[in-house]
Amino acid sequence: MKIIDMFCKKRPVLSFEIFPPRPDTPLDTIYDHLEQFETLRPDFMSVTYGAGGSRKGRTLEIAARIKDLHGIESMAHFTCAGHTREEIDNMLEAMHRSGLENILALRGDPPADQPDFDFSRGAYRYASELVQHIRKVNDFCVAAAAYVEGHVDSRRLSEDLRHLREKVDAGVDFLITQLFFDNRLFFDFLEKARAIGISCPVSAGIMPVFRADQIKTIALKSGCSIPAKVVLMMDKYQDDPEDMRKAGIEYASLQIRELVSEGADGIHLYTMNRPKSTREIISNISDLTGIPSGGADAH
Ligand SMILES: Cc1cc2nc3c(=O)[nH]c(=O)nc-3n(C[C@H](O)[C@H](O)[C@H](O)COP(=O)(O)OP(=O)(O)OC[C@H]3O[C@@H](n4cnc5c(N)ncnc54)[C@H](O)[C@@H]3O)c2cc1C
Repeated sequence: MKIIDMFCKKRPVLSFEIFPPRPDTPLDTIYDHLEQFETLRPDFMSVTYGAGGSRKGRTLEIAARIKDLHGIESMAHFTCAGHTREEIDNMLEAMHRSGLENILALRGDPPADQPDFDFSRGAYRYASELVQHIRKVNDFCVAAAAYVEGHVDSRRLSEDLRHLREKVDAGVDFLITQLFFDNRLFFDFLEKARAIGISCPVSAGIMPVFRADQIKTIALKSGCSIPAKVVLMMDKYQDDPEDMRKAGIEYASLQIRELVSEGADGIHLYTMNRPKSTREIISNISDLTGIPSGGADAH
């Protein structure tokens, strides 16, 4: 099923994002998690594409399994940075052959060891060009990334929003945002996006704080800001991982509750491959989403 059709039928559309295990880790680890995520009945699950295309085979394999074995709609992420047209077409063809109908079309980041990476070396420099290409050659439902605080490379939010509009016009069905910890940033972003004619559904990306060091690394890389109350929370629980996890779940649940009550089109939960914590969040918001906290015991 194309995910855009879900947005026509219900709001909010609830999705979980997972990432493939490292190449030296057996796929069984994520397959065990999938059984537990299934009991939480998200509307769809998305599978990330390793930076620079690493673990790419695993993205397709896992996304196809989510759909075929677990009966949950899935979406494969795909980054075009550094890829030739032929490589891109081969990947799109492989996705099609795997029965996938949904793709998150991304530019991707420079490889970690090449900060001066030249994006013009690949077939496409920006995600909008990839979106345009997919629209010409395939019938996928196409999602793209949005940045409520502006993409880290862009000089101004207004400039990033202009490029976002171009990307949507190239053929994007719906958007998923980068993580943010202050809902006011999301509401302001949405207002500005709507004002410049971006009318497609926008799913709010929520990342629970499980570990302070992890969140700091992600914030540094993505440029997302950490509000004072989250800094205080991380300081308070820095020596107690379990209390930190619980506080992170509480914070994410409150964020989602407000977003849903303000009419967010979708909630995209960055699960960090943690079914137990995801279940706790789903349980905290079940009265709003109508999604029960699930049957089987998730760990
Ligand atoms: C929901 C979500 C999921 C993600 N999943 C993955 C993943 O699985 N794997 C992975 O490696 N990364 C992933 N990322 C990270 C993403 O690859 C990076 O943020 C990357 O730096 C930008 O990708 P993009 O598709 O947003 O790029 P683009 O939309 O191309 O934007 C990149 C930059 O270029 C600018 N720009 C766009 N068009 C133009 C133009 N015409 N002229 C000048 N500037 C322009 C934009 O303003 C922005 O600053 C994800 C991000 C999000 C939000």
